[in-house]
Amino acid sequence: ENRIIAPDYVPEDSDIEGSLRPKTLSEYIGQKKAKENLSVFIEAAKGRNEALDHVLLYGPPGLGKTTLSGIIANEMGVSIRITSGPAIEKPGDLAALLTNLNQNDILFIDEIHRLSRSVEEVLYPAMEDYALDIIIGKGPSARSIRIDLPHFTLIGATTRAGQLTAPLRDRFGVIMRLEMYTIEELCQIIKRSSRILDIPCEEDGAWELAKRSRGTPRIANRMLKRVRDFAQVVGDGVITSDIAADALNRLEVDKLGLDAIDRTMLRTIIKNYGGGPVGLETLAAAIGEEAVTLEDVYEPYLMQIGFLSRTPRGRCVTSLAYKHLGLEQDGQQTL
Ligand code: ADP
Repeated sequence: ENRIIAPDYVPEDSDIEGSLRPKTLSEYIGQKKAKENLSVFIEAAKGRNEALDHVLLYGPPGLGKTTLSGIIANEMGVSIRITSGPAIEKPGDLAALLTNLNQNDILFIDEIHRLSRSVEEVLYPAMEDYALDIIIGKGPSARSIRIDLPHFTLIGATTRAGQLTAPLRDRFGVIMRLEMYTIEELCQIIKRSSRILDIPCEEDGAWELAKRSRGTPRIANRMLKRVRDFAQVVGDGVITSDIAADALNRLEVDKLGLDAIDRTMLRTIIKNYGGGPVGLETLAAAIGEEAVTLEDVYEPYLMQIGFLSRTPRGRCVTSLAYKHLGLEQDGQQTL
């Protein structure tokens, strides 16, 4: 499946993501609040020559959590080790990572909500006391020894802070939510990327891409790359607003960045469930998608633009969405 709006990392992104990742806080566009706070924490930790407090970053995929972690390491002048929850299979895997860190280094764990319970338990004393408790021997002669670890910073990233266990969440000194980007910010990101990749792009062209990027830098950069091909074949290589709109329409991404699945989702709620409320699982089954995909990938943006609302009884489509889809809303709807 090769969908342009999927915010998750796909291997095709690798050719551009490396070169486009900002390296410093000042190059990192948007996320004003997170940046301001972080720059204070970083300066203070550096002043005391200490490791930064453990940081939890949460928000939908593609908003710049990995990028920001690399920037924190760079600004702190330390190294970063990057791994993910599912990649750490056994407590020993985590112990190996931790004992290889240097003083003040950063361990970045993506999808931290997917750590197994036994691995998580190793993490608690590591985060709190910079120590590993290891059991040696078996049966009656077994005993526990404590190994000191270098002071380090754990940066955890997750799409859902709510899925973290309370004891893990409580051990983060800094918890930050990354916000979806405004069209202006996405436009800046696209223009920066087009300079780096040497893709001629008019201001209006960048704006057209920004409007369709679902608040997500990863999608913005991916669209830039795809639309470049259209510009080369259909036009004279320059991304204009017409070329951007035409290319994205062909890729079935509409003016607001909705794709076929967004539209199916909204139409299904309207046609089958009178506009809602409908439970997430029911909806997922009706359109043949996974509930987690709908929740992590589709809903955040539909809610951000005010097309979908979450009520205790389920999901409801709003009148804005009816209008966008060109559908009549009958008198019963109150949303
Ligand atoms: P996440 O870890 O949240 O899934 P990433 O950090 O991998 O997201 O970001 C995806 C891509 O988007 C990166 O390659 C980077 O080039 C770009 N990006 C993310 N945030 C920003 C930003 N604030 N400014 C510029 N580019 C960004």
